[in-house]
Amino acid sequence: QTEIPQTNTHTKRLTHLPPLLPPLLSSLTQTSPPPFFQSSQNKPITAAMPEAPKPTQTSNGLTTIAIAEKNKRTLQFIEDVTSNPDDVQTQVLHEILSRNSAVEYLHHRHRLHGATDRRTFKKLLPVISYEDIHPDITRIANGDTSPILCSSPISEFLTSSGTSAGERKLMPTIAEEMERRSLLYSLLMPVMSQFVPGLEKGKGMYFLFIKSESKTPGGLPARPVLTSYYKSSHFKNRPFDPYTNYTSPNETILCPDSYQSMYSQLLCGLCQRTQVLRVGAVFASGFIRAIRFLEKHWQLLCRDIRSGTLDPTVITDPAVREAVLTKVLHRPDPELADFVESECRKDSWQGIITRLWPNTKYVDVIVTGTMSQYIPTLDFYSNGLPLVCTMYASSECYFGVNLNPLCKPSEVAYTLIPTMAYFEFLPKERQELVDLADVKLGHEYELVVTTYAGLYRYRVGDVLRVAGFKNRAPQFNFICRKNVVLSIDSDKTDEVELQGAVKNAVDAHLVAFGGSVAEYTSYADTKTTIPGHYVLYWELSVKGTTAIPPSVYEDCCLTVEESLNSVYRQGRVSDKSIGPLEIKIVEQGTFDKLMDYAISLGASINQYKTPRCVKFEPIVELLNSRVEGSYFSPKCPKWVPGHKQWSNNVKN
Ligand code: AMP
Repeated sequence: QTEIPQTNTHTKRLTHLPPLLPPLLSSLTQTSPPPFFQSSQNKPITAAMPEAPKPTQTSNGLTTIAIAEKNKRTLQFIEDVTSNPDDVQTQVLHEILSRNSAVEYLHHRHRLHGATDRRTFKKLLPVISYEDIHPDITRIANGDTSPILCSSPISEFLTSSGTSAGERKLMPTIAEEMERRSLLYSLLMPVMSQFVPGLEKGKGMYFLFIKSESKTPGGLPARPVLTSYYKSSHFKNRPFDPYTNYTSPNETILCPDSYQSMYSQLLCGLCQRTQVLRVGAVFASGFIRAIRFLEKHWQLLCRDIRSGTLDPTVITDPAVREAVLTKVLHRPDPELADFVESECRKDSWQGIITRLWPNTKYVDVIVTGTMSQYIPTLDFYSNGLPLVCTMYASSECYFGVNLNPLCKPSEVAYTLIPTMAYFEFLPKERQELVDLADVKLGHEYELVVTTYAGLYRYRVGDVLRVAGFKNRAPQFNFICRKNVVLSIDSDKTDEVELQGAVKNAVDAHLVAFGGSVAEYTSYADTKTTIPGHYVLYWELSVKGTTAIPPSVYEDCCLTVEESLNSVYRQGRVSDKSIGPLEIKIVEQGTFDKLMDYAISLGASINQYKTPRCVKFEPIVELLNSRVEGSYFSPKCPKWVPGHKQWSNNVKN
């Protein structure tokens, strides 16, 4: 990968977006409705799926009337499935169980013996986590093609950003799931167009990226869900559709070199700046990385715009060169170069999005969950344009959409689409699981899914709160991912991992100096550096007499990083989406002060536990005011694509 010139240690080269969420594939590209829920008489029992487009294409794409009609059908589909979610869910479960009745997991292990009703299913099937099916996943990964979890062949593994034993989780998937994901994408623009008309008249500037992929020992691809999606013909060969009309040619998205991909996508976005009506990326962190990239590289970009060429030392990928030169960068454009330069040269970058892309109506990025930490930065760069969170999805399953996309980020609620999977909800108090149609307003639940691809009563790990209803279907606020304490990008670090990493560092480096960590906490700092980085606050207890040299703390930083999971390390090494980890040594007594502060805010003395992660600004300020020394990881930790135990081919 090409090195980006670096100016300071924590603002590094930019790169891919995390695995995960989607672009906007509209229903207009949908050609064959997925075989969702057929009744036993083999008739569709609920809403009709959005159909394939009628041949009303004009040279510019579909007519406005055709688009409006298509949107109407899609919105009607949403009305229908949300009007009787319980019936749809019954059918979905029936379909999943009847198709898979003979698979080892259902038939032999849990003795379902062909039952497809909810009662028997709930009685016989346990609620599980990844660890419970890890042995099955390993068998499939090693090449066992017998029907273990699913009767359809496993087409690939989706590598989740959730981890197990430090490695990415592997989610089995089947070919037909691609249709289901496309269906969810197809709902987004019809929903959006109710609130922002005219989006079909321009383009979307989305920064979309692929990541490296590997093969399991049994030969199945293992890659993030979005990489799988962008490389699929669903995405690559999509027919013209004004709703999937992006400024980035496919070749720039599919470029495995993250620097060239980002550079070319920005260049294409700048060249088509007046046509851009919406901008976005999957996560807020990715979009901010793109702006940061522009901040560092606008001079290079302007030089190419001015000359109408691509610097051959910057863009070496032949497919990217050809696509950009034939599709976008047709001629020298000194006027545009002057304009971009004059804007980028200004002292403040406030409102840079609206300055460079003046017709932008909204920023399409996920800012729910841990991504909410990026809202102030996005507001700054976009001058307060609406931040739109369109969907909620995962490697296991795509879940739902936001039917009120212009709402405030804090009010975003996702409507789970009942055809996607069979959903259950584990109440906080851990009684019986409840069904989609039975959740209660204001209550919090952990999401449990049963999917077409062979996960049965699987705990996703997300906590959701019922915020309202669309017809009879609940809408959920995303509350948090269970146990995650630190996250900058798609990394998810939990308390146990952090604890282990701190212990490794102390054992390896501090003990020799008679040092130990008396108390610690952590903070995901996305404010002082782009990309953000993990900060650990350590209060030491030192028995030795030799002063601890700075290099020892730096070694501690690196050992902590080496001990964290592969998603974190990939973010540091390959994606450059996470900056070097920092340890801040705080004065003696700082954690007592922290406790005093918490108690002054109402915490109980008896129950007070040091939080292993802090978010509340006054607490962060308190910690920062007592820092005696600050040390950064001197280099990247080790990371290789694929899983530890695989020694096979890696692409990209
Ligand atoms: P992955 O398995 O890597 O695809 O990550 C999926 C996880 O990302 C979900 O289980 C959520 O924790 C998180 N996620 C996905 N979509 C959203 C969203 N719209 N808001 C907040 N978190 C999300």
